[in-house]
Formats: sequence, structure tokens, C-alpha cells
Amino acid sequence: MKLYLYDTWQRKIRTFEPLNLGEVGLYCCGPTVYDYAHIGNLRTYMFEDTLRRVLEFNGHSVRHVVNITDVGHLVSDGDEGEDKMEKGSRRAGGESAWVIAELYTKAFQKDMHALNNLEPTLWCRATEHISEQIDFIATLESKGFTYRTTDGIYFDSSKQDNYGYLARLDLSGLKAGVRVDMGQKRNLTDFALWKFSPQDSQRQMEWDSPWGIGFPGWHIECSAMSRKYLSPWFDIHCGGEDHIGVHHTNEIAQSQACDGTRAANFWMHGHFLQLDNAKMSKSTNDFLRLQSLVDLGYDPLAYRYLNLTAHYRKQLNFSWNALDGAQQALDRLRVSYAAWPEGGGVDQVFASSFLHEINQDLNTPRALALVWGLVKSSLSDADKKATLRHCDQVLGLALDGWQPSDTMIPSEVMELAKARQVARQEKNWQVSDDLRSRIIKLGYIVEDGAQGVQIKKLS
Ligand code: AMP
Ligand code: ZN
Repeated sequence: MKLYLYDTWQRKIRTFEPLNLGEVGLYCCGPTVYDYAHIGNLRTYMFEDTLRRVLEFNGHSVRHVVNITDVGHLVSDGDEGEDKMEKGSRRAGGESAWVIAELYTKAFQKDMHALNNLEPTLWCRATEHISEQIDFIATLESKGFTYRTTDGIYFDSSKQDNYGYLARLDLSGLKAGVRVDMGQKRNLTDFALWKFSPQDSQRQMEWDSPWGIGFPGWHIECSAMSRKYLSPWFDIHCGGEDHIGVHHTNEIAQSQACDGTRAANFWMHGHFLQLDNAKMSKSTNDFLRLQSLVDLGYDPLAYRYLNLTAHYRKQLNFSWNALDGAQQALDRLRVSYAAWPEGGGVDQVFASSFLHEINQDLNTPRALALVWGLVKSSLSDADKKATLRHCDQVLGLALDGWQPSDTMIPSEVMELAKARQVARQEKNWQVSDDLRSRIIKLGYIVEDGAQGVQIKKLS
């Protein structure tokens, strides 16, 4: 059966055919590790994990590369402002940027495992690939795509006829609307390849280069590392929708200048998780972490389930009601699955409908609807179990790993705990105490520790 995927470059759904018979090359832009990932970021990594699972389900082996941005991502996309890592270090009372990077890399990987995202074939850090980035910039320089300003080496976007094609940028419209200070940049869309360290202070992360001491611009790491670990022309490059206009546009500009390719055959983008219909972002500090959900008694896989209910190319508005619904649905699925006996076979008619849905550009909402059809079908329970196990290779709900246990927190208790959180935030101590007592009456205790709120069953 054919696999159809949406390609942002061509702005259409295309049949996916691997470039090489051996392995599909998949590069996913990783996190900037100056803070915890929020559940919006994690939505993008779950979309990418689903993509990988679907590729494997279709019989491809996948070389899945994820980078760690531990230097070079500036606070503004316009190449001004502080490096996010140095900012993270300052916020942590001067803890070194290296320690900060390690801390948040580990926290991110823990979230990835908790969501049952498959381990990438390879993680690669920007700071461990400085020489590859310098070589890449040197090639761009030798081909005449760069110029020097007092603060760095820049890519001259006017040297390419199709600069901005991925985002369908209207360059003349951009120029007309320009109100920002371009500094010494020749064109609004030019971007830094190498930034010089400031004269008056020493950066924590800096390296020598043919152009002077400094650090790489954010976009060059992905071009250099995808080229090294996959090749100058590989299958699929992914990220969140915010990468279309700047980061991926600039990666493509670099690859076209260096190798004459747009790096990847397919460019795919996950759409945003919204909170109260606004973008959730790391810089505004009002974000929810996966741990925030766990503290309230939710299973990380309930958040995975919630994401499966929405197509990755549609924005998803996060709500506690929707997460409650996802937790309940997941629990129902788990309980049925655990109760069904072994020994059945995969129902081929159902399996082929399931494959058909996920092969339509990862239509997970339709695939989930099919799963509920299976649960209610007249198939034998043993066949249902075998068939659902087959589908879970794509859904990633880890149904086989789940055991019914008394650590499951009833939704009634969770509701009360959430109401108590709200009361505490509003310093409404009387209401908060009443809610706590009601939770105790139901046989649970809610504790506020350094790790956040914890709900435990009273023994
Ligand atoms: P960052 O750590 O900021 O570089 O972002 C990591 C990934 O999360 C990137 O692929 C972003 O495009 C993606 N991302 C950022 N915000 C959101 C959001 N609210 N919803 C979904 N993905 C996001
Ligand atoms: Zn990238």
C-alpha cells in the first residue's frame, strides 16, 4: 500500500518513495536546551515519532537523527539578542551553560521516554560539531555566499533566486514592511553563520575559527549535522511549523549554496499546540511541562493519546477536559486489552483499513476511530488483542507494558486535586483545605513537595 505524506516544499500530499532502498534518512530539529521542553514542543516530537513508526510499519528501516541545540540559538530570530544558553545560565544564578545544557538535555530525553517516543538512532549536539560547521561556512565563503560585518559572518540571501521558497516568502512585501534595524546586514533575510564574541566580555561557549573567536549561528548546525549523518540529499526533514519561515528556510538556503540540494526530499511540519488559543512558548514562562501533568496524576501516555486524536497538521488547543477525556479513553482501552486473552490472530481486513488510514499523511484520528470500532466489533477477544497489538506499533500507547494496578488515580480524585491547585494559586486556603479533606475521604492524599503536587493512595 502506498504511503502519502504532505510535503511543505511542494505544498501537497505526495507518494513517499525512499531515495535509497537501504534506509530512510529522517532528521528532526531538536530542542534548544536552555529550559525544560513544554508540552507543545513534545507534541512536535510525538508527531515525528509517529512518522518514524509509520515508516517502519511500512517496512522501511529508518535512520532517525535528532540534534541538541546547545549553542547559537539567539533570543531573536533576527540575529540579535543574547544566546539562549547564556541566558539560561544567567537565569540559573550563573550555573555554567554547559551544566544547564546537560541538565535540560537529560530532562528532555526523560520526557521522550515517558511518552514512549522511540530512541533516535543518533543524538548529535551542536557543540560537538563545531569543526563541521566551520567547514560548511568555509565552503559557503569559497562559493561567494558570505560577507563579513563587525559582529559576524553573514549569509547573503540575495545571491539565491529562490530564497524563501519553502515559506513562499514575499521578499518585496517584506522589504516594504520593514521597520527593524538591520544593523550591517545587507538584506533583511540575511542571517548569521558565525557570530563574533563581544570585545568587552568573555562568553562561556566560544571557539576559534578562520574568522575570529565566536560561535556558530543557529541554522548552520542542522545543515552540517544532517549532511554528515545522513548525506547532502536525504529523505525527510521535520520540525514545528514555526521553523518554516526562518530556520528551515535558512537551512535550505545553506544546503542549496553548498551542495545544490534542498537537503531533504520531504519537508514536514507539525502544527502547534495552543493554550487558551495562544501559542505556548518557552520564552513566556507560562508553559506546561509533561511533569506538570504527571504531578496532577495524569499518565504521560494520556497526553500521547490526546495528540493522536488530532491530525498533526491541525493546531490542537490544550484543555484539561480534553486531557481528562484522553486519560479515560486510554484507561478503557488498557483495561479491555489487559482482559482479552492471548492466542488470537491479526484480523487482516481491519489491519489493512488501519494501514490505509495512517498512510494518508498519518491520519491518526481516523486510525483511533477504527480502533474503537475494533473494540466494539464481533471479532473474538483474542483476535482483537492480536490486532490491537499490531496497531499499537504505530500508536505507541505501550498497551503491552500496562498492568492494572491500584496506583491508578480515579478521575474524581484528579478533579478535586486540580480544583485544590486553583484554590491554592488564588490563596483560598479554606477551600483548598476542604478539597484536601474530600480527597482523603476518597482514600487518597495530596502532597505538595519540591517535585510538585503528588497524589498517593492511602494505605
Ligand atoms: P525549541 O526547543 O524552541 O527549538 O523547539 C523544539 C521544537 O518544538 C521545534 O520543532 C519547534 O518548532 C517546536 N515547537 C515550539 N513551540 C511549539 C508548540 N507550541 N507546539 C508544537 N511545537 C512547538
Ligand atoms: Zn534545525
